[in-house]
Amino acid sequence: MDHPAAPTPPGRTIRSAELLAIGTELTVGETTDTNSGELARSLVAHGVGVTRVTDLPDHQPTVVEALRAALDRADLVVCTGGLGPTPDDLTREAVAEACGEDLATDPETLGWLEAMWARRGQPFPAANVKQAWTIASASSLANPHGTAPGWWVDRPDGRVIVLLPGPPREMHPMWHDVVLPRLTARGVGDDLDVRTLRLTGIGESQVVDRLGEELLRRTNPVVATYARHEAVDVRISARAQGGRPAAELGDEAEAAVVSILGEHVWARGDTTWADALSESLAARGWSLAATERGSGGALVGLLRGMPALRRAEVLADGEAMPADPPPDAEHEVREAERVRAEAGVDAALAIRVEATGRDTIVHVGVVVPTGRHAERRTVFQGGRAGADRAAIAGAAVLLAALRG
Ligand code: ATP
Ligand code: MG
Repeated sequence: MDHPAAPTPPGRTIRSAELLAIGTELTVGETTDTNSGELARSLVAHGVGVTRVTDLPDHQPTVVEALRAALDRADLVVCTGGLGPTPDDLTREAVAEACGEDLATDPETLGWLEAMWARRGQPFPAANVKQAWTIASASSLANPHGTAPGWWVDRPDGRVIVLLPGPPREMHPMWHDVVLPRLTARGVGDDLDVRTLRLTGIGESQVVDRLGEELLRRTNPVVATYARHEAVDVRISARAQGGRPAAELGDEAEAAVVSILGEHVWARGDTTWADALSESLAARGWSLAATERGSGGALVGLLRGMPALRRAEVLADGEAMPADPPPDAEHEVREAERVRAEAGVDAALAIRVEATGRDTIVHVGVVVPTGRHAERRTVFQGGRAGADRAAIAGAAVLLAALRG
């Protein structure tokens, strides 16, 4: 299986890629194509522009047509799916046809497959022979987690086709461990710098207003905003230009964004609230307890997996609450103090959610060894979405207290 890398045709740097996700389960809506998203993110991070992403059924003429068109446009075509042993898996056949080459059985791959069944003490199924098929311009890519080897195909004009199996747990390691290093060695992408600033306490439209059209319309660096579940993200992607490295242009754009919105930036990259809180707690060696009321577990969901979290309590709306007089502003601070003492931890967060119809009011109490904080915020939306935003507001108050 360990084929030597085929000699690389001179000269073509891989700057553009198209992705083909092959499988009828994708085009009938039974499976969602997550492979292409993962590949696209990875390629873009390596400076390769992904110019098209297509889902295709297991239908050879359709796949052949898509492959030919993609090879006309892009330096690299990555296909996932359709490498299995069943007759509907026909990606290899389609690539052979698109390249005008004949399929032949690769004895080495066949030996590897036969040995796999021999180890299980089972007869080798004839259907699996096709997984050892290859064409002259292809080299085999080992699949340590499945039976379907991938292909790396060098086209005479320096373009590359990569075939990977459909199951994400097989595709993922092959891409990262085998394909990416080979692409990098061969020359991939332009000098590119991509960074993301994560913002809280501000809506996407306000972010857009404050950044202004001039900044958001630039073509290099590109500054774009994304409203995500946990944050509004500002993504800056810079390409080397006029002798200036991408990182320098990225730094400049980041400084411009931070000068406008710096007080809202709470993290970078794909950091989650749980990550950011964990990091701040770990820096001080503090443990955490949390209690939430009326938010149905939204806070536990947000904090889930944090190593410092020792206890998380979910209370229903009226549970153990004095109805009269109504809780004052300090109520959540006392709740935080209570769980902090009960769990014997250093830091505690309490939130209480009040649905007001369209929006949600959240009362936040934070107690840390260095101080106590009470805050009341209104977040957009009611119901589950409101509770999720309330939990984020609570996390933001806690993070500010930990950092402050
Ligand atoms: P196998 O040998 O496992 O059959 P294969 O290359 O033939 O590999 P497919 O049969 O196309 O892969 O897909 C197998 C499974 O992998 C699908 O049922 C689906 O669960 C998952 N899968 C396939 N393509 C994708 C994709 N683009 N995104 C996410 N999951 C996918
Ligand atoms: Mg299959």
